[in-house]
Amino acid sequence: NQILITGGTGFIGQLLCQQLISKGYALTVFSRQSTANVQALCGRVEVVGDLEQLRRHPGFDAVINLAGEGVADKRWSDSRKQELRDSRIRLTNLLANVIRSWESHPRVLVSGSAVGFYGDQGRERVTEQTPPHDEFTHRMCRDWEQEALNLEADGVRVCLSRTGVVAGPGGGFLQRMLLPFRLGLGGRLGNGEQFMPWVHRDDVVAALIWMLETEKANGPYNVVSPNPVTNRQFTRCLAGVLGRPAIFPAPGPVLKLALGEMSRLLLTGQMAIPEKLEAEGFQFKYRDLSPALADSVRY
Ligand code: NDP
Repeated sequence: NQILITGGTGFIGQLLCQQLISKGYALTVFSRQSTANVQALCGRVEVVGDLEQLRRHPGFDAVINLAGEGVADKRWSDSRKQELRDSRIRLTNLLANVIRSWESHPRVLVSGSAVGFYGDQGRERVTEQTPPHDEFTHRMCRDWEQEALNLEADGVRVCLSRTGVVAGPGGGFLQRMLLPFRLGLGGRLGNGEQFMPWVHRDDVVAALIWMLETEKANGPYNVVSPNPVTNRQFTRCLAGVLGRPAIFPAPGPVLKLALGEMSRLLLTGQMAIPEKLEAEGFQFKYRDLSPALADSVRY
């Protein structure tokens, strides 16, 4: 069972690769990094540095597409926004074209997206059916999803992971928050009423494998825990898990000044619910925030 993966070296991808290998899948990872680096991160995988090398390949059984520049890594200048879009939309478009050139098409494409698809949703309960709010993250996720969905016309089953804010040990957004919180300098962001649709990395990886292996799964899935919390609740819980006070709120206007439009990632959110995953029988390991955070701050 041969799988092609983009983004395999990332925070989610590394754990995904390790688990797929232990399940007996043979993996090929597309990466800009050296083969030695990729194998150190992902395990025993084949590595390709250019998707064009895979044109007219006999074909893979499945493709998982997670690559993309880090949305929270740099301020969103116009050129940065273009990089964020190109590293997802152009890459997925190229991937789809390469897939179309294969002798046999994959059974399934599991492709990335994010809860940013919905834009700012205030206190609305957000399911896969909720109409999005039009803003940068929505347009980026919509176009990224569309490139993947275009393969449905070629008979490929397409699943989309609208991933929430991923918590897990040794990386992701928590890694950046830990130092101030450990020093007792943490606090809520803005008024703290915005929702954070958190999800543990183990559940993200399990959901991606579930989409891969569940023949009836298709379309978008909110990959978020069943219990979203507000930023205020999240802050209290993290402080509790670390045994530190969190009494230094970061005021909204200061974050806006410091981060520009990117501050929307911190100051707005979605009360997203994994309605389809739960209806279709997916079981979460971490339903509640406190054990998920306790596991995530181990290092
Ligand atoms: P990481 O930032 O840890 O990894 C991203 C991966 O994308 C890397 O493996 C890198 O591969 C690849 N990549 C980055 N830029 C480019 C580029 N310009 N061209 C080609 N490949 C590139 O991401 P995560 O594992 O955290 O997330 C995976 C996906 O899920 C991302 O697309 C992300 O947007 C999405 N997501 C993540 C969330 C989170 O909280 N972590 C939340 C919602 C969505 P290499 O260096 O090997 O080339």
